Amino acid sequence: MRLDFYLSHVTELARKAAKIAASKGRVTVNGEVVKKANYTVQEGDKICLDDTLLAWPSEGYYMLHKPAGYVCANQDPEHPTVLDLIPSHLGQTLNIVGRLDKDTTGLLLLTTDGQWLHRITSPRSACNKRYRMMLSERISDEALKQLEEGVMLNGESEPTLPAVAERISECDIYLTIQEGKYHQVKRMLAAVGNKVEELHRDQIGALSLDTDLGIGEFRALTEEEVAYF
Ligand code: URA
Repeated sequence: MRLDFYLSHVTELARKAAKIAASKGRVTVNGEVVKKANYTVQEGDKICLDDTLLAWPSEGYYMLHKPAGYVCANQDPEHPTVLDLIPSHLGQTLNIVGRLDKDTTGLLLLTTDGQWLHRITSPRSACNKRYRMMLSERISDEALKQLEEGVMLNGESEPTLPAVAERISECDIYLTIQEGKYHQVKRMLAAVGNKVEELHRDQIGALSLDTDLGIGEFRALTEEEVAYF
């Protein structure tokens, strides 16, 4: 990783301040002064700032209670992004695990660990995601059965994989799906003649959204939670 990126991750220095610190000769790598911000550092290097030995960053794993109105992207010209909810020294190293629509709320995972991310999002992992939704119309038992057996989405050639649909009340259901196609839940409900008015994800695999997390808050995952995937 680039030296300035590394410094901005493990110290209080922002990227620009990290470049300046290096250019002033404050940084050594394996005992040699390194002034170039684009110098590549790697795990095992002995990196010092002002003679203080710095650690190699450990992997980070977080859950965020996503509010409506935030997009799952690193940058967006029009809307705030979920990374705006994370302090920038953490956020700049994190990848968003899968996507929720701008108006969807609930459990969103963020990590620095690409392999862990892949284990959750790869179709081969068939990782369950549970959504609770408010529908515009009462949903029939027949429609719930169709959702469970698989429905044909507009523009797709194969039906959706088996899912689990549970009624909470007339217009309020849980739907657990393995796939993660674009707008999948909304398109599944459209396929049975209904419309999703509100959508909230509360589980990914064995991991549930922490009910103590307020909307817009995040926390690090425990080791046990990381090991679910
Ligand atoms: N399915 C959707 O339609 N939207 C989401 O945000 C997530 C799943």
